This record gives sequence, structure tokens and C-alpha cells, in this order.
Amino acid sequence: MKKEVIIVGAGLVGSLLSIYLAKRGYKVNIYERRGDMRKAKVEAGRSINLALSDRGILALEKVGLAEEIKKISIPMHGRFIHNLDGTTAFQPYGKEGQYINSVSRGELNKKLMDLAEENEVGIYFHEKCAAVNWKENVIEFINAKNGATFDVKAGIIFGADGAFSAVRLQHQLQHNKFDYQQYYIDCGYKELTIPAGAGGEFLMEKNALHIWPRKDYMLIALPNLDGSFTCTLFFPFEGKQSFENLDTPEKVSTFFKSTFPDIIQLIPDLNKQFTYNPIASLVTIKCFPWIREDKFALIGDAAHAIVPFFGQGMNCGFEDCRILDELIEQHGEDWKEILQQYQKLRKPDGDAIADLAINNFIEMRDRTADPKFLLQKKIEARLHEKYPDKWIPAYTQVTFSPHIRYSEALERGQKQEAIMQEVMQLAGIEEKYQDEEIEKLILSKL
Ligand SMILES: Cc1cc2nc3c(=O)[nH]c(=O)nc-3n(C[C@H](O)[C@H](O)[C@H](O)COP(=O)(O)OP(=O)(O)OC[C@H]3O[C@@H](n4cnc5c(N)ncnc54)[C@H](O)[C@@H]3O)c2cc1C
Repeated sequence: MKKEVIIVGAGLVGSLLSIYLAKRGYKVNIYERRGDMRKAKVEAGRSINLALSDRGILALEKVGLAEEIKKISIPMHGRFIHNLDGTTAFQPYGKEGQYINSVSRGELNKKLMDLAEENEVGIYFHEKCAAVNWKENVIEFINAKNGATFDVKAGIIFGADGAFSAVRLQHQLQHNKFDYQQYYIDCGYKELTIPAGAGGEFLMEKNALHIWPRKDYMLIALPNLDGSFTCTLFFPFEGKQSFENLDTPEKVSTFFKSTFPDIIQLIPDLNKQFTYNPIASLVTIKCFPWIREDKFALIGDAAHAIVPFFGQGMNCGFEDCRILDELIEQHGEDWKEILQQYQKLRKPDGDAIADLAINNFIEMRDRTADPKFLLQKKIEARLHEKYPDKWIPAYTQVTFSPHIRYSEALERGQKQEAIMQEVMQLAGIEEKYQDEEIEKLILSKL
């Protein structure tokens, strides 16, 4: 007899996980706090669109959904940098043909829910997890519409209820040595929309992720299928240049005119959007253990919430599902072994991508405008071209190499960065970076 599975949270990860498990013959029910986003417009929560890359695509491929999702995605081949002086530059993400994909969070989630239901998964909406009795593996839910409470007993429980997971809190409160770390960066974010042109056309380069790097903060924009762009301003909460200080329409206009001059004419109702759109915070959460015996695991953001600067939160959560599925393939019904192996493999990778994501914040806001950094990237791209197995740029390892573990990418990336820091200090590197002697020196240090 296969255990009955309850997943808390029908977000991106909970929905995908349910498909994997249903395809393996498990009876799966999902309980979701919010309403059904396919029936009524529901609060989108975070980010309107997301960057889907190779790890996420591989996980979608395994359930037969990758091609359908690619049809509703826009390829982004590189970073399109908007400098303060009005100049722009395009920095490819990888080799020709390598790109990441802008996809609507809502549309992706809806397609995952549809496929889950086609595979006989039950999804119950407006049901909020309130408590868990771990001895009996019974979850108490509260119906958000009528306040009624009820209990559900599960063979296995998955907590896929996001960064502020109620299931994780229940796990923590009834555990005698649960490690928990939470860290907010001092920047928050606000989303703004650049509408499509009069004929539905894109008003900036469509196939790129746009960045306005400004050292202590940055603005980014991802394209949407309707010709609009969703911009995200990552900006300090407090200080001289901060959300706190931009407290009048005049200050907002002056700030945008002087800092993002090419944006101001693209968002006619900038002040209205700036006033009404919320400011949200960005948190990294690391915790341990993720599992209980053979009957519970955390997955997705509930296990590892990370900042969005590598565009990997969802991709990592999708990878959790794929790896878990591979472990079921190996260990059959031995859920104690499956969950132990899952935690052993995924915890170091969750920690690694959390650190990589924080590092990428500094790279995106601070270094993408620095000529020395651009030269470094050029040298690394050349090395990768000539020695594809020996030198893989960190971004390529994380984004385009789904079979390299995040923990390995972090370690190799740190080693390569240390080498490059030394090389970039060499006198006259700008002139001699293509010399064989430089290439030999770099490779000798690996
Ligand atoms: C600004 C921003 C940009 C991002 N950009 C990217 C990107 O480009 N690429 C990328 O890969 N990732 C990105 N991410 C990360 C990505 O959004 C998350 O990693 C992803 O949403 C995690 O999915 P999840 O299903 O684990 O959690 P969630 O998406 O948070 O879903 C959790 C679900 O659980 C439900 N829930 C919560 N509490 C309860 C409860 N008590 N009972 C029942 N249900 C409950 C919620 O309503 C929700 O539906 C970004 C994040 C942010 C904040």
C-alpha cells in the first residue's frame, strides 16, 4: 500500500511535487490557503514574472510540461545594461543559444495545477494549515471563508507553504534541536510596469533582462508576453537614497529623472504606481532538519528561502522535486531512506544557492557597470570556449548546467574567482589578456 500524501501549499513547488508523486501512483491532496487563481483574480504575492532556467526546465521536462511552458516564455539571451550616462551594453549570459526565460508566475502556477488535477490530485482552496500533531501525523486546517476547522491524517506530509511556512513553524516548535537562521537584506523591492506601446510592441529590447546598476541599488526589468515589462526596484529601506526618503511625488520624479532617465518616459503613471505598489522585503532562511523519520519533509522556499538575484528560488524548488523523484525511483517505498537521502543531498545545495544569490546581488548592482569586471567576464568566456570542461563560469554552472550541484558550483566558482582576482591585478592585463601566457597561468592555478 502506498502512503497517502498531503502537500500544504499549491504554489509553484507544491503543485509540481504533486504531479511527480501522482505519476508514481500516490494518492495526493493539496491544501492551499488562498483561493483558486484559475477562477478569480487572486493576489499574485511576489514577482509577476520569473526567470526560468535549465534546472527548472529539466524538472518540468520530466513531467512533460517543458514545451508548453516554453510557449508562454520569452527567451532572454543576456543582460541589457542601462548606464547612468545613457549608454547601453549587451552582455550575453553564456554561449550562443544559451538563454533564460521570462515566464508569468500566475500562468505557470495555473498550468501546474491543471496538470496536477489531470493526474487526479485533489486541490482544496481557502484551507490554511494551523497546526500539526506530529505523533499522529494529523494536520489541522482552518477554512478561510467560514472559519471551520478540521483535521486530516496523512501518511506523508510535505510542507511546500513558502518562506513563512506554517508547517515549518510547527516542526520547529515540536523539535528539541531545530536550527533556524533568517536574514533580511537592507534592500526591499517595489514592482513597476512599463506598458506595451500603442500597437502592443515592446518599448525596449524584448529578449533581454534589463538592468540599471547603480552601486547601492538597481532596477531590473523582465519582458511579458503582452509587450509590457515588469520592473523591480531593489532599493534601501532607509538612508539618504531610500524608500523612506522618496515620500513625495516630487522626490520620486526628481530621483527617477536623475537616476533612471530613460525610464521616466516609459512609465507615464510612475508616481501613481510608486505610491500604490507595495514595498516588500527579501529574506534568506536556512534551517535543519528538513525531515521527520519517514513521514515529513520541507520543500521549496519552506526549506530554503533565498534572495532572487540569481533567479534560482523556483528553479531550486523544482530541482528538489526532480531529485526526490529520482530517490523514489531508487528506494521504492522506503520513505525513511528516501527522505534521509533527500535531506543529505539538498541541504548543502540549498545553503549554497542561498550564498550564491546574495553574492550575485553585489555583482548585479555594483559590478555589471565596471569595465574591469566586463574584461574579467570576457577572459572567462574565452577560457570556457577553449576549455569547456576545465573552466565553466559560475553563472553558467548555476544557470545552464543542471547536472552540476549548487554546492559544487559555489566551491568551483569561489576558486575561479580567487584566480581571476589575482589575474586582474596583473600590470597591463587590459592589453595582454589574450596572450597564451595568461591562459597558461590561469589554468596552472586550477
Ligand atoms: C521578487 C522576487 C523575484 C523572484 N524571481 C525569481 C526568478 O526569477 N526565478 C526563480 O527561480 N525564482 C524567483 N523567485 C523565487 C520564487 O518566487 C520562489 O522560490 C518560489 O515561489 C517558491 O515556490 P514555493 O512553492 O516553494 O513557495 P510559494 O511560491 O511561496 O508558494 C507557497 C504556497 O503555500 C501557500 N501557503 C502559505 N501558507 C500556507 C498555510 N498556512 N496553509 C496552506 N497554504 C499555505 C501560499 O498561499 C502559496 O500558494 C523570486 C522571488 C521574489 C521575491
